[in-house]
Amino acid sequence: MCQNIVENKEPVIKRGRGRPRKKEIGEVKPKKVKDPNAPKKVYKYVIPTVKCQCGGEYVKSNQKRHEATRKHRKYLGEVLPPSTRKRSPICEKTRIIRSKVADLTEEDKEKRREYFRERNFYYRQRKKMEQNEDEDKEEEEF
Ligand SMILES: [Zn+2]
Repeated sequence: MCQNIVENKEPVIKRGRGRPRKKEIGEVKPKKVKDPNAPKKVYKYVIPTVKCQCGGEYVKSNQKRHEATRKHRKYLGEVLPPSTRKRSPICEKTRIIRSKVADLTEEDKEKRREYFRERNFYYRQRKKMEQNEDEDKEEEEF
């Protein structure tokens, strides 16, 4: 009995979880392209921030939270234990590339040069390939 009733019913499109599929909505609208010359939106109300003497800045409702920060506590003269926050160690290569040339040892400088030499090589190769592609296209056209 129960099964028959279910079969006679018209199929109902069940709204699934998450974002509705484009099929369900119907027509797929083209994406709106923002006008680059459009005037910028001016917000009527901007939550005012409070500038703290410690150099921090916070929204007034976050005052308690700010006062608990290490930055603020340090400013007040509290001696804090070293941070236990774990930072992932920077890869050797990245460290060399990021730091100033003047701070590097000769060995590191050589590594840095080697890196940029390599990048330059790949860059030139890519450019060459692109040029060749363009030439091929031109030949096809004529
Ligand atoms: Zn502060």
